[in-house]
Amino acid sequence: MKKILVVDDEEHIRELYRDELVEQGFEVDQAEDGFKALEKLTSFKPDLVTLDVKMPGIDGLEVLRRIREKDVNIPVLLLTAFGEFRQDFNTWASDAYIVKSANLSELVDTVHTLLGTR
Ligand SMILES: [Mg+2]
Repeated sequence: MKKILVVDDEEHIRELYRDELVEQGFEVDQAEDGFKALEKLTSFKPDLVTLDVKMPGIDGLEVLRRIREKDVNIPVLLLTAFGEFRQDFNTWASDAYIVKSANLSELVDTVHTLLGTR
């Protein structure tokens, strides 16, 4: 079973994503900030990380930089709120980014594509 780490500072978003991804057949763990995310990279060993950009402490882009620094070669899916979009996101070494939406179909499709599970 592929493992996904959901990183977001908002609990209701983590739970929304977790429920959906568990339903899709993944094992899911959560982290509410960047430091916990980096810890769980080692302890949980996810196959993919969904990463909120806007978080207090270290933000998603810094977490992404530190993940790549560790040479952990796993897909990272950046999640942005509407309006945070920046044209240069693709220079930040994420494998994909999507705009957060109540409709989770794009998230689900992107996760399956990155993991090759569909
Ligand atoms: Mg946030």
